[in-house]
Amino acid sequence: MKALVIHGKKDVRIDTVADPVIEHARDAIIRVTSTAICGSDLHIYNGMFPQPRPMVLGHEFMGIVEETGSGISNLKKGDRVVVPFPIACGHCHFCNMELHTHCENSNPEHYGPEGGLMKGKGGALFGYTDLYGGYNGGQAEYLRIPYADIGPRKISDKLTDAQALFLTDIFPTGWSAIEWAGVKGGETVAVFGCGPVGLMAMKAAWMHGAARVIGVDIEPYRLEKARVTASVETINAAKEDAVEVIRQMTGGYGADVCVDAVGMEAHQNFGEKMMNIIQMEKGSMKVLERCLDAVRRGGHVSVMGVYGSPYDNFPLYQWFDKGITLRGGQAWAHHYIDKLINLVETEKVVLDDIITHSVPLADAAKMYSIFNNKEDNCVKVVLKP
Ligand code: NAD
Ligand code: ZN
Ligand code: ZN
Repeated sequence: MKALVIHGKKDVRIDTVADPVIEHARDAIIRVTSTAICGSDLHIYNGMFPQPRPMVLGHEFMGIVEETGSGISNLKKGDRVVVPFPIACGHCHFCNMELHTHCENSNPEHYGPEGGLMKGKGGALFGYTDLYGGYNGGQAEYLRIPYADIGPRKISDKLTDAQALFLTDIFPTGWSAIEWAGVKGGETVAVFGCGPVGLMAMKAAWMHGAARVIGVDIEPYRLEKARVTASVETINAAKEDAVEVIRQMTGGYGADVCVDAVGMEAHQNFGEKMMNIIQMEKGSMKVLERCLDAVRRGGHVSVMGVYGSPYDNFPLYQWFDKGITLRGGQAWAHHYIDKLINLVETEKVVLDDIITHSVPLADAAKMYSIFNNKEDNCVKVVLKP
């Protein structure tokens, strides 16, 4: 079959690889009908999560069941499914606590940054390096789904692929950001990053009753996308000091909730493009610091942007003094997906309006470059195997 394979930094190719086969009784094979490129894939593409051997990428995908293992009774050939991006057994110490992203039975290798002493192996994701289990991903024609009795959800034929695809990752991720921040209604929510994850957090914030939602980015076309698809007020952090503007907008208090939907690229982006950005003169462009600055006393910061390295000069004093609740991690896709499927099926939310490119899988390598370089007004790429 054809699949998108990472060979090294900024080196992804469409290769011919072996078709997946059933390896365990609880496996299923799906024929992928749609799959997306995620900001998380860019961390691998940019070498921030180095991948030592070629691997098929992709953790946002859906498709049709082709084959099931002998232990699978919930699915049959022909079922149309979306699949949450973490791989989880459903029955271990962590899965029993609804912490599927920390499943003990999905990742044979990883013991986390602490070494081997702490119990729990760090969970696994589809197509997300050997660190996260070494499983092939869904930017491919076919894929093996481990624990297929736990992850895949059948979806209505009323939904198009484009309407359903983001139930696998980015809608649950935006939803997690808002749930974890305890948004109940009436809050001001500032979302840093108007990429796909940020846009989903904005939609989720409105659905939780936020009074005001603000999008922050440094790319004008992404800010425009946020205004159009999420009806938010926007701040261009390349032109204005976003923290100052947020304070002005909130009577000096700061936002009730800040969401970091950028992650570690912003910490490494100190190239030419960023040199004239206002925060460079003022100190930091590190989005997590900006979030801690911009949130009100006693407020919440949700960190959905991925971090894979230590963070020097973390403003511990500010976190302590302001009494900020800081929460982050891989989204709770398994936990929220059924509720979110219902919201999409009952037309309470539109997700596919963020798609800017829908192209054949054969064009995937080119699209990685366009998405990474923010060319062609690219916001979200869907690949069709
Ligand atoms: P993306 O790269 O398309 O979006 C990031 C946005 O941040 C871009 O619009 C970029 O212009 C903007 N940005 C960069 N530097 C900035 C700065 N200094 N200030 C304000 N904005 C800035 O990626 P995405 O797909 O939206 O994903 C965003 C993050 O979420 C990534 O780190 C990704 O890995 C992560 N993610 C996490 C989970 C999870 O489970 N926690 C799931 C999916 C994605
Ligand atoms: Zn993703
Ligand atoms: Zn488990």
